[in-house]
Amino acid sequence: RAKDAGRGVFRTYEPELHVQAEERRVLELALRTAVENGEMHLEYQPVVDAEAGQLRGFEALLRWKSPEFGTIPPSKFIPLAEDARLIAPIGDWVLRTACAEAAKWPSDIRIAVNVSANQLQNPGFLTTIASALSNAGLSPERLELEVTESVFLHEGLGVTRVLDRLLGLGVHLSLDDFGTGYSSLGYLSRTRFSSIKIDRSFIHDAAKGVREAVAIVRAVIALAESLDMATTAEGVETAAEHKMVQEFGCTMAQGYYFGRPMSVTDARALVNRRWKASAAA
Ligand code: C2E
Ligand code: MG
Ligand code: MG
Ligand code: MG
Repeated sequence: RAKDAGRGVFRTYEPELHVQAEERRVLELALRTAVENGEMHLEYQPVVDAEAGQLRGFEALLRWKSPEFGTIPPSKFIPLAEDARLIAPIGDWVLRTACAEAAKWPSDIRIAVNVSANQLQNPGFLTTIASALSNAGLSPERLELEVTESVFLHEGLGVTRVLDRLLGLGVHLSLDDFGTGYSSLGYLSRTRFSSIKIDRSFIHDAAKGVREAVAIVRAVIALAESLDMATTAEGVETAAEHKMVQEFGCTMAQGYYFGRPMSVTDARALVNRRWKASAAA
């Protein structure tokens, strides 16, 4: 009987775990060949200056469309790629593709690329950046690398030194999703970030009038200003949110209100029109 009960428990819990592990295994396998099979592409989301709404650059966002599994969101496949040590080769492709595209735009338009902690820990990463830039013929100051606070979780691995060497190449660094991670502010004094990207949860709550969120957004902007860093408001979806961000004195803004992540063709058209949010609104 005890044996039966045991088996019952086994049967109740195991299949679910099994499916999760199986799904991961199968997705990971498909992920291994996704780039070479041409299943990945980039979308580009406009970044504008908060004051005038003028286009300043784009953030490259990775998309995976698997013939077998359909469209899989980055929130699902990026962590998988990180665990499976696939983020370095995939990230290389992202960097090369994004730099090559940006080289076709006017020189005042920047490209921002997301970089995972694992990529920074890869000893070949500096070479990857340098060769992506030189192959594309893109000057370094037009490339911005976005990292999250999580890269500082393992300071022992020399992250600050890697970031310094990246700065030495002339690229910009920005701190992504600010406020959602482990808010030890020490690294802000050790690394010369060009910009702090304030996570969209704060922008959203602050625009709704949530007192704590307002206080945090204001404090982050003041902090950034005193450190000579710009701020980017993420996830601006409405005119009211844009207005708030302007009033607070954010430097840049990004969000569905200004433009969703778009195809490379649409991004080029936008660049050519020298699009302004004010004209679109
Ligand atoms: P992220 O770097 O913070 O990128 C911004 C995310 O917010 C994107 O989600 C974008 O589509 C979404 N977003 C932009 N504006 C709005 C808005 O107004 N409202 C709402 N609700 N969402 C908005 P996406 O494309 O799903 O990417 C999710 C995350 O996946 C990114 O967050 C980034 O951390 C990661 N990721 C994407 N591409 C790459 C990549 O090439 N390499 C690495 N390492 N990570 C990537
Ligand atoms: Mg980002
Ligand atoms: Mg972000
Ligand atoms: Mg975010």
